[in-house]
Amino acid sequence: MATTKKRELDLSNFPPGTVTEFTTLVCLACIFDIFTKQLGLAPRTAFTEIKRHSPTIEELTSRTAMRPYFDSDEKSPHCPYCGSAKRWLARIDTYCIEGGKTTDAARRALIKKLPKADDQFVVLEKKSDSRAVFFEWLDTLGLNLDLNDEDWLIDATRKYLARREPKTNWTEIFADVRAVRRSSRITEGWERDGARLFLAPHLYSEAILIQYLVSRSHAHGGLTLDGRLTLMELIRRLRYSGYLERIGITEQDLGEVFERVVDHLAATHDWSRASSVGNASKAAKKSAKKSAKKTAKSRRKPAEPEPEAIITEPVKLHYIVDRRDFLEKVKSVYASYAA
Ligand SMILES: [Zn+2]
Repeated sequence: MATTKKRELDLSNFPPGTVTEFTTLVCLACIFDIFTKQLGLAPRTAFTEIKRHSPTIEELTSRTAMRPYFDSDEKSPHCPYCGSAKRWLARIDTYCIEGGKTTDAARRALIKKLPKADDQFVVLEKKSDSRAVFFEWLDTLGLNLDLNDEDWLIDATRKYLARREPKTNWTEIFADVRAVRRSSRITEGWERDGARLFLAPHLYSEAILIQYLVSRSHAHGGLTLDGRLTLMELIRRLRYSGYLERIGITEQDLGEVFERVVDHLAATHDWSRASSVGNASKAAKKSAKKSAKKTAKSRRKPAEPEPEAIITEPVKLHYIVDRRDFLEKVKSVYASYAA
């Protein structure tokens, strides 16, 4: 039996923000109960079925688990459904890797190294899109921040920039930073002045957007480095700072502008490729070509990036499910169950 120490997968080759880890506990007493009492299987058959059992992506990654799955941070958790103690509980770790140029090689190398026997690891795939991935990332970000501690604004900014530009060492740049400000001197990148970090206006705008999105469900309006903002105030700031113009948004309607801004942040998730504006127009061209082919073969669509063509991009999600603890526990539980 492997020790728990060596269990963690080495994810150091993945850019920050591209892997999300989920841990769920599953109660084997509940599972055996379902298979033997509800489905009427003999213990031996139940054991064979349970070993094969592969949870769905939803069961593994849902924020609110359902029987026989549950979440717990306790050291000695108990099943919330039947009260069973630790030895009946198995832990399943799931790693969700965002597919794309920055992760494909590292993912293949990682999967190659995993033990193959007995389906100790299962790899699942799911088609998603940049918008869903972005909101999932925001959700995870929000769960890992302490919104009662004011430093979260700086933390959220650093994590966003790390996702945007994974090749830059943001931990170093943010070391001992006490304040983040909009720069009136530089138009690209960042600049340190003592404990203050100055960001180019568009980066600062995006940081505020992220802060708004993370905190809007916790507070009336969103909390940002510019203070508490309503959606209208936020959009006004983005407009006057030139950010909306920079990313090609010309709409006036508040809701529409907001949707487009979110799509823009989400669609340019693969930051290492090019500048954000370049990415958006590339995606726009691609989609224009595709839809032109679909609707009218003979009609040629002009390739210029139309502002409304900022669209969500398809993203493949790769889930690596670590079933090692599950398999070991099923075995030991069955031994005591059948005895
Ligand atoms: Zn249970």
